[in-house]
Amino acid sequence: MTGRLDADVIVVGGGPAGSSTAWFLASRGMDVLLLDRARFPRDKVCSEYLSPQASRILEAMGALKSVEAAGAAQLSGMMVRAPSGESFRGHFAGAHGFKGFRDTGLALRRTILDSILLDRARAGGARVREDTRVVDLARDAHGRVSGAVIADSDGRRAALGARLVVGADGLRSIVSRRLGLARRSRWPSRIALVAHYTDVAGMDGVGEMHVDTQGYLGLAPVGNGLINVAVVVPVSRAKDLAGARSEFFEEWIDDRPHLRERFAGARQVTPVRATGPFASAVRRAWAPGAAVVGDAADFFDPFTGEGIYTALRGGEMLSGYLLESLASPRPGDAPLTAYDRARREEFGAKWRLERLVGTAVGFPRMMNRAVRVLSRRTDLADLFVGAAGDFVPPGEVLRLSNLGLLLAPGR
Ligand SMILES: Cc1cc2nc3c(=O)[nH]c(=O)nc-3n(C[C@H](O)[C@H](O)[C@H](O)COP(=O)(O)OP(=O)(O)OC[C@H]3O[C@@H](n4cnc5c(N)ncnc54)[C@H](O)[C@@H]3O)c2cc1C
Repeated sequence: MTGRLDADVIVVGGGPAGSSTAWFLASRGMDVLLLDRARFPRDKVCSEYLSPQASRILEAMGALKSVEAAGAAQLSGMMVRAPSGESFRGHFAGAHGFKGFRDTGLALRRTILDSILLDRARAGGARVREDTRVVDLARDAHGRVSGAVIADSDGRRAALGARLVVGADGLRSIVSRRLGLARRSRWPSRIALVAHYTDVAGMDGVGEMHVDTQGYLGLAPVGNGLINVAVVVPVSRAKDLAGARSEFFEEWIDDRPHLRERFAGARQVTPVRATGPFASAVRRAWAPGAAVVGDAADFFDPFTGEGIYTALRGGEMLSGYLLESLASPRPGDAPLTAYDRARREEFGAKWRLERLVGTAVGFPRMMNRAVRVLSRRTDLADLFVGAAGDFVPPGEVLRLSNLGLLLAPGR
């Protein structure tokens, strides 16, 4: 319990969700203290692609120019290859009259992107403390969250007080767990391996997903001559890669002729890093005195890969509700319940689309069928890629007529 106030809002975590929450709050005059256990630049295992709509929020935060100046790759769309070998391409520029903030997505190393975003939070007025691990939440006599408990490397603890606390501390969020909100999803239980290469042949400005019966491999240029390579497999394969990540990764590529050819002259330049299982969710995104955002609130699977957008947009949305709550002398919880409802409205259709795609990825025949249809219907392919790009309402893809086309047997 802490009676002292160290800030209006403590934000735990300085990834995209924490930085955007902090920026949108601090630039509107709130006293924000952001705590992150890491020292930046810090890495995050990720495919490092940002949807076209993420640029809108980067622009609002004053980060877009810096992201582009740092050498971010511009992606014009996505290619998906099914286990059958058939593939389709969709473009961000042309989806049934729906228009994104940009006609391209961006991709950039997380070491660079996240440092730019954290700097924007600072520039907005947030105080940032790196190397600061949150180990618990402080509560008042009524059990309401009243701050965060931090611990130094010697285990010494100290409580910091705030009117509201935000958990933006990613997968396995300590804030979600301490609030009793975390719900580990058992499906899809997948793990990912990520490394960077140079000189992969045939890259032509789109993100690529190569789906296989055993999982999938993603390829994306991330600027400055680097290609992000991600292999995602069911968690049941974890025993095969224990202690042998690099071998597993290389074999995955070598065993598949269409990939082997393209990697013949490629060079691996970063170590293979692993993460997962990553599907997680919360029962609701708030508790008295606190709210969660970004991966701390939910993450499903990297296939449709917009966790960064969701984190940035979540921070933008949440900040409005926090400001409303902070407007009264004793912050109220009604705006926090409204935030939870708004999240469901904003992301609900996307969650359904993600689950549909997540299912198809696990069932090769379903994937083969859908990719075959999309390879013949470029209009639908653009619609699908636009939904993955966050500017086509996912409900457009989920229309029964489209689902019928994609899933009907015998095509
Ligand atoms: C394999 C893989 C590939 C992906 N590819 C993409 C992609 O291409 N595009 C995309 O948009 N999304 C992708 N995602 C999802 C994306 O990485 C996440 O959705 C995004 O990073 C969420 O941002 P965040 O700010 O919520 O969390 P994070 O980026 O994880 O940031 C959380 C921060 O909290 C800090 N923290 C954690 N615990 C504590 C603590 N106890 N005390 C203090 N600080 C703490 C951490 O140090 C970290 O800085 C991918 C995910 C995976 C697993």
